[in-house]
Amino acid sequence: MQKKLLQVKNLQKYFFLGKNQALKAVDNVSFDVYQGETFGLVGESGCGKSTTGRTIIGLYGKTAGEVNFNGKDVHKLTEKEKFAFHRNMQMIFQDPYASLNPRSTVKEIISEPMEVHGIYKNSKERTERVYQLLVDVGLNREHANRYPHEFSGGQRQRIGIARALALDPDFIIADEPISALDVSVQAQVVNLMKRLQKEKGLTYLFIAHDLSMVKHISDRIGVMYLGKMMELTESKALYKKPLHPYTQALLSAIPIPDPDIEDKRERQIVQGEIPSPIYPPSGCVFRTRCPHAMEACSQSIPEWQEVEERHYVACHLYNEKIVGPDKVREMVASAHDGN
Ligand code: SF4
Repeated sequence: MQKKLLQVKNLQKYFFLGKNQALKAVDNVSFDVYQGETFGLVGESGCGKSTTGRTIIGLYGKTAGEVNFNGKDVHKLTEKEKFAFHRNMQMIFQDPYASLNPRSTVKEIISEPMEVHGIYKNSKERTERVYQLLVDVGLNREHANRYPHEFSGGQRQRIGIARALALDPDFIIADEPISALDVSVQAQVVNLMKRLQKEKGLTYLFIAHDLSMVKHISDRIGVMYLGKMMELTESKALYKKPLHPYTQALLSAIPIPDPDIEDKRERQIVQGEIPSPIYPPSGCVFRTRCPHAMEACSQSIPEWQEVEERHYVACHLYNEKIVGPDKVREMVASAHDGN
């Protein structure tokens, strides 16, 4: 049995805007991440996936719930424990240019976390480590004395990855690490992350809005919508048999590179705009855009249920008490390849 490295339990992150107004960016989200796996967290922009990542690493305080890393609640760590935690959990950001100090050389950028954490006190050793990290991420030692503006977007993201690896962490939160890159470069960065994971035994939380690329790196995937988790299962199962209407629509929006299949395909388009997280719809938050919405959907929040083995979904269509066991069986059987 794989070890649970990260446990997120009923996590809430609200941003309070006034006395009676709260933006519910993350609302009762729970999932585990096992050692050595990649957990993909996906959803449209504004669904709360990046806020979830930032609350996990402690950039934001939580409103309620728990984040346990290696068995310890990360929001209750002492200053000394926080120092060790930040060595073990690192983050890669979406915009590689904005996250690198333009006035520092690549060597200074990558060696900074080592200096802060007092690793390799000897500067020669630190420099050797920088050179090794540059090679690990597909750059070379000659790049060490250059500045971020001298690199392409893909190379800058490689520098961001090298910096995240500087402290030899166990866990990396990659917050949309490829969204700012060209498609061809996206594949290179994903392949690099996969190789590094194998070589260094890393565990990833990979946050993205593009389901097509997440498929290639994730072992399991959680789908978020308006601050809530809608569906969670193994990557293959999610693409083969998406159960939640929102996941079905997201997958159906991915183009298939075969014109014959693409022409015959029936698309499920999500209508309308994502509602405001300050005034989320009652009951199921997806009901204002869901083609299957029924009366119960506005009256109660769907339960988080394991509908098939290791396949969880929050939708009344799979609740036997609401639609009956025959309908649930029919829904599960009719769910088909969304891609
Ligand atoms: Fe659609 Fe209702 Fe399921 Fe929500 S609970 S996804 S509105 S069918």
